[in-house]
Amino acid sequence: MPVNDPGAFLGSCRSIMWYDQYCENYYERGFKSYQPEAVLDDLLRMDADLYAIYATNQWGLAYYDSDILPKYVPLGEHDYLAEIVDGLRAHGKHTIAYMNWLDSRHPEWRWQKLGRDDVVSHPTEELVEIPVYAAQGKGPVYAVEYGEWFLPCINSPRREETLRVAAEVASRYPVDALHLDMFFNPGICACPHCQEGLDRIVGGEPITYQAVCDHWDAYLAWRQEVSASLIARLAEIAHDHGKALAPNSFCPVYMDPLIAVSSQWWPHIDSYVTEAWLRLRPQFADVHSSTITAKWVRSVPKPALFLVTGQHPGFSHATLAAPEYAMHAAAVRSNGRPTLGSCGQGPYPSTRTSPRAIDYIRDLFAQYTIQTKGPARETVKQVGLLWSEDTWGYYEPGEDTRAYRYEFLGYARALLESHRILDVLIDSQIAELADLASYELLILPNVACLDDRLAKLVAAYVRQGGKLLATAETSLCDARGRRRNSLALGDVLGVAYQGRYQHPTCYLEDELEPCACPSEAAMVRGTTAEVLQRLIAPDPDYPNEGTGIDLVPGPTTDHPMLTAHRYGHGQAWYLAATLGKAYYTYGYFRMAHLLEGLLRRLDLKQLYQLDAPKSVEIHLERGQQDTLYVHLVNLTTPAAVPAREIVRSVDEIVPLHGIRLLLPGRLDPQSVACDGAQVSAEVTEAGLWLSIDSLEDGCTIIVPWASE
Ligand SMILES: [Zn+2]
Repeated sequence: MPVNDPGAFLGSCRSIMWYDQYCENYYERGFKSYQPEAVLDDLLRMDADLYAIYATNQWGLAYYDSDILPKYVPLGEHDYLAEIVDGLRAHGKHTIAYMNWLDSRHPEWRWQKLGRDDVVSHPTEELVEIPVYAAQGKGPVYAVEYGEWFLPCINSPRREETLRVAAEVASRYPVDALHLDMFFNPGICACPHCQEGLDRIVGGEPITYQAVCDHWDAYLAWRQEVSASLIARLAEIAHDHGKALAPNSFCPVYMDPLIAVSSQWWPHIDSYVTEAWLRLRPQFADVHSSTITAKWVRSVPKPALFLVTGQHPGFSHATLAAPEYAMHAAAVRSNGRPTLGSCGQGPYPSTRTSPRAIDYIRDLFAQYTIQTKGPARETVKQVGLLWSEDTWGYYEPGEDTRAYRYEFLGYARALLESHRILDVLIDSQIAELADLASYELLILPNVACLDDRLAKLVAAYVRQGGKLLATAETSLCDARGRRRNSLALGDVLGVAYQGRYQHPTCYLEDELEPCACPSEAAMVRGTTAEVLQRLIAPDPDYPNEGTGIDLVPGPTTDHPMLTAHRYGHGQAWYLAATLGKAYYTYGYFRMAHLLEGLLRRLDLKQLYQLDAPKSVEIHLERGQQDTLYVHLVNLTTPAAVPAREIVRSVDEIVPLHGIRLLLPGRLDPQSVACDGAQVSAEVTEAGLWLSIDSLEDGCTIIVPWASE
């Protein structure tokens, strides 16, 4: 019986325990401590509102009596899913049935990566069948190590099997929602199930990596459609049984578009499940990643579940340090208050859970529940940073895409480190001018793929008085990555595009000497814009052989680097280089100075003044009854600026003293409250100065909203 809003219960859930009970399929003594009461005892001690409980695991084995999938043998007669779900429901808890796309059967369903060298990798390792599964008559199960996953192709018969499993679970178990994890392929698949589609897309040419990239528009659109159509069918099954669908939807900022998860999922899902990327993507996620993900998901029109992922490499099942949990929690409670969860930390293959993990998670959930009470709040709008799903997908064909993502991340980092407040705006969610009009500044960080509709809205935004900063090849392509003859925003920016700069490094003017920017740049010509700086070329006498990065500046070219242009009542700036990408990639301090100088030039209204190190983030929200919430998040962590091969726990958030915040206007010091720190207030000519005694993980200062 369909219900109107099967995801409505999520509104009352502040915390979720993602109870990752995985266990290698060849362990004969898996679940050796299993007693439903003991598991329930652990779960209830953590006291989450919502629990994700395994129906199937990463090996495609069922933890219940399935007609379709083999059942995990050591469970014997136990129906784990029923026992745990019923137990939790008896205590008033909500539950999600967890299913995983991964498998350890059907090697013929595995995806086959088409590499840049056109070699198709067939997963051909010697497969060893686990004999105890033969008696179940559901086909051979192969021994697969943790991490050595069978990832089926998204076009394979695993689709139909997954739908049947979903229907089986939904019809038999009183869970509130269904989940599907790991539903993606991270590259171009050239398996037999993809052949027909590939042939159609490349039009009879040999199927090579380059041929697929040459037909990228059709290829990615096809992959996204294949992906979204399964999610749509899963949603039908869930909704027909009165359940919500909450699949893992990832976060594109930290993924290549080949995962093919797209906004086409959104009409079907009831909740957006995503994770903290600090441990999932240790190669390129930084401590701002939870904030950025929370801001990103806040723009998605769905309730969000934000899972703090453990997976400290090699330490699966093991707990994070409590301060690391606190760091993530401070970031997300300041940015939209999604339902907070813990995943990848929890039960060992025996079903016992680390007692330390239980303590930390219980404390985390209890605090988060208290700290995130209260009615909805809105962000205070000043800077809108555009996330363009079109550019993410269609600008840069193939794998390992960074030209747009890193430019976006570099600007996000520069804004956060310089204590500016920003919202992430998602292209598909901008419906009308009103969605932009409240922002003082709109940043388009190499948003190459901008459709005509959005380009017109951006132009209207500037014309009526907005400030725009656009970089590199912004608006060069249409939504599907097809190059236009000129920039769609050419009139707004007052420049004309001439091509990509030929060197991998260019230089920007800076005090004393130019600063290298080893990243892409565009060559433009000023039409009506004022040219403020010109692109500086590398010194031709010192080519960049060896390092790949040229650090010796040469002559100044005629190409504009930085321009300014009045357009209507507004102003548009254009920077030819992808300085954000260079900063995100290399982190060189002078690039941060250049970005700060650029932002200062835009002369934004000073809503506050924060005297704090760059490891403190500030976020502003506006509540009901004219209340302003000023969130400070402390990301000061121990010596761990990582090389590529070291990691460490965030086992301390270094407390900061002497942080001061000026709020302009006449504010009564008696009206100031602070959650999470002691503040003292002093009235001055300039406004109310607040001194924070000691900033631990974060605090929220609550003051009357001084709106004009
Ligand atoms: Zn395939």
